[in-house]
Amino acid sequence: MNKLDIEEIVRKEIVDTVLKTQEFIVAGNWKMNKTKQEVQSFLNDIKDYDFGSKNTVIVTPPSPYLYLFEEALRYSTVLYGAQNVFPKESGAYTGEVSVDMAKDFGCKYVLVGHSERRSLFGECNEFASKKIRILLQNNITPILCIGENLDQRKYENYKQFLVTQIVEGLSRIEEKEISKVVIAYEPIWAIGTGETASPEQVENLHMFLRNFLVERYGENIGKDVPLLYGGSVKPSNVKELALAQSVSGFLIGGASLDAQTFIEINDILNGK
Ligand code: PEP
Repeated sequence: MNKLDIEEIVRKEIVDTVLKTQEFIVAGNWKMNKTKQEVQSFLNDIKDYDFGSKNTVIVTPPSPYLYLFEEALRYSTVLYGAQNVFPKESGAYTGEVSVDMAKDFGCKYVLVGHSERRSLFGECNEFASKKIRILLQNNITPILCIGENLDQRKYENYKQFLVTQIVEGLSRIEEKEISKVVIAYEPIWAIGTGETASPEQVENLHMFLRNFLVERYGENIGKDVPLLYGGSVKPSNVKELALAQSVSGFLIGGASLDAQTFIEINDILNGK
């Protein structure tokens, strides 16, 4: 056996060990997609599937379909959440969904600050911080999305932009609550474009974010904040990305829409 064969065997062992032991969060973001019938068919495909107990599997459908999730996933380990809530308890906010409503249907997670909400609906860090506060007050886990666009990426200090998104997003909660928030790093240039950040780019950025969190909020808090990656994740690239240091899981758009593809990604992240 030559040196390259041995290196390959060792690498495979390491990959298998990481995938079989590391706990990942695997969250699907359906955005504004699917009919009622398509939702029912997806739920039929996943509701009895054995996703194992190691990873946390989440789907965020459009809010009108949450009742179908509540019914279908009663005995499943798959969790679900809303893509958005409005940061007020109730009142004259036409078209909005409250945290209580999301809670009524069993949501355990809510996306906050997704780049589409920022760019299409003008949502800013301050608005994200209000949502995060009201979600935590209601024991719902916010998934705070951050990310730079291609223009920002060209500048040296684009990492500072990401840091500001984090600091301002978390500004309305107490330090001890910070590790209850999930942060998803989603470079905007990689969302829905088919262009994925390379495992090296993802590792570099996630290590930077981890170091920042530890420096700013202390070792105990900073090391516990889950850091997801999002941006054109699919079965063909998820394994390599999962090996990147400080990646705690994935936020997945397009590839979460098809039940078999979603299952395939989850199987990979279980070392199957
Ligand atoms: C997303 O919408 O959060 C996302 C990452 O989308 P996609 O996986 O399709 O790039």
